Amino acid sequence: MTAAGGRGLEIGIGARYRDVISHRWPVIVAPQSEELLSSWLHRLAIANGVAPRDFARVLGPASGPGSGLWSASLDLRLPTPVAACLLTHTGVSRQKLVAMSLTRSAWRPLLLPLRSRGRRGRSTWLQYCPCCLAEDAQPYFRRRWRLSTGISCPDHGCGLRDRCRSCGSGIAASGQPDLVPQHLCVRCGADLRRAPKVAVSAAARRIERCIDDICRLEAVTGRLTGKLGGSPLLQRLPAIAGLAPTSTLSGLSASARRRCFEQLARTPCTWLTAGDDGVAVHWRRLILAAGGTSALMGQFVEALERDRHLQASPPRRAPKVDLPALLAAYRDIRERPPRPR
Ligand SMILES: [Zn+2]
Ligand SMILES: [Zn+2]
Repeated sequence: MTAAGGRGLEIGIGARYRDVISHRWPVIVAPQSEELLSSWLHRLAIANGVAPRDFARVLGPASGPGSGLWSASLDLRLPTPVAACLLTHTGVSRQKLVAMSLTRSAWRPLLLPLRSRGRRGRSTWLQYCPCCLAEDAQPYFRRRWRLSTGISCPDHGCGLRDRCRSCGSGIAASGQPDLVPQHLCVRCGADLRRAPKVAVSAAARRIERCIDDICRLEAVTGRLTGKLGGSPLLQRLPAIAGLAPTSTLSGLSASARRRCFEQLARTPCTWLTAGDDGVAVHWRRLILAAGGTSALMGQFVEALERDRHLQASPPRRAPKVDLPALLAAYRDIRERPPRPR
């Protein structure tokens, strides 16, 4: 480039220019403990000045731009081009991306169905605890809030909600057209954190904990043939409780599932310990007797999970030995004259 008047003003691109530009997006948002992938995507979009509704276009055509629950679909199936885009632009590891998604989840049969506008009495796809959202520095949605067997918050003891208390609509942060946090209802702008606590009895929460522990144990061991999480038994809970004979558990709203667990807590749990698999029945009885997440059972399941993870990781290769060099060193030591005393 030459300045007017003939004075030579040259602007060149230095060798360090490539250090200045970057493929990374301006703001990187760290995933939080047990955060759902879609929740992280919404926070990432807002932090970078893009409304969640438009962020699917940033991630490319494989992310399903234009569909209502595009981010919730990515929770279930993360296409390779979308994962590659996120890896390039955020630097978050592939391992963390997979951990946030539900693509390899053993709990898939128990997930709430993707339904953005469930009618009253029908489930919506995601639940939340107002107290957890209120305590979060940056409110986010947890993976466990996708489960139909989850009816309460283990930290606060209150019932989970699946709708905005003001307008009755489900959680639809993926359709948010404005740059506002995801704890505000997309339809009416109400703050989800201000919803009153819902009471759940200790007995119902105990049943919930036992079912959660049994499913975890059977998913981790893979040796038990009971497979409660994958069996239709849990889906038949509304009928077992005598509330809705033709409904499945994941088809019910959060309040209906809560009523179902309250009803189950009033009767003996023989429905859970029936079956031909003696080993599975034995473990279920033990968990029921312990009342769910006793510290011991929690540690046991975590140890099994660690063990399975170690077995799944590729075996370490033994370091290569340079045999000729080793033998030469041995010969040198043998042939070295002894030190004078
Ligand atoms: Zn909570
Ligand atoms: Zn609302």
